[in-house]
Amino acid sequence: MTEELYQRPTWDEYFLMIAKLAATRSTCLAFPVGAVIVKDRQVLATGYNGPPSGSSHCTSQGFCYPELSSCDASKVLPSRAVHAEANAIAQAAKHGISTNGSVIYVTLEPCIYCLKLVISAGIKEVFYETPFNSGEKAALRDMFIKEGLVILKQISISETIAKKAATSLLFPTSVAKSSKLEEE
Ligand SMILES: [Zn+2]
Ligand SMILES: [Zn+2]
Repeated sequence: MTEELYQRPTWDEYFLMIAKLAATRSTCLAFPVGAVIVKDRQVLATGYNGPPSGSSHCTSQGFCYPELSSCDASKVLPSRAVHAEANAIAQAAKHGISTNGSVIYVTLEPCIYCLKLVISAGIKEVFYETPFNSGEKAALRDMFIKEGLVILKQISISETIAKKAATSLLFPTSVAKSSKLEEE
């Protein structure tokens, strides 16, 4: 018990948890995605998916277009969302922060367009939770990997750390542990 109580997240778990928190701010209803750009274990920028800054939120107007039944219902109408990775890169650009030599944590494997953007932004490694690309898109992704342009790695958060984080969100975080131990 004590060991679990003092278990700290790994750096990968730490940044993936931040990406997951960023995803809670998503305003596109297709599915939430969060991203965090990291260099030397420091957060450079965060992003989540949603329409461009200033455009009305899917959550407030009823999906990407008011007449749709969901954000990804139409095969014709383009999604209004800027993807989480693109938003994180844009946030860095907006604030004059270099992304060169950084890594990115995302809750979803980058789509091929974001992956190209990630590579061109000088981001060297992608850590993602859920796979996304298949077929020809996966083949292009693998070609980029083979060319040594980017490294992709699927990661997850251990149950112990996830539970600890959930407890930390549900209850006040900064309370003395001694009193809690005495009760048990
Ligand atoms: Zn939408
Ligand atoms: Zn994308």
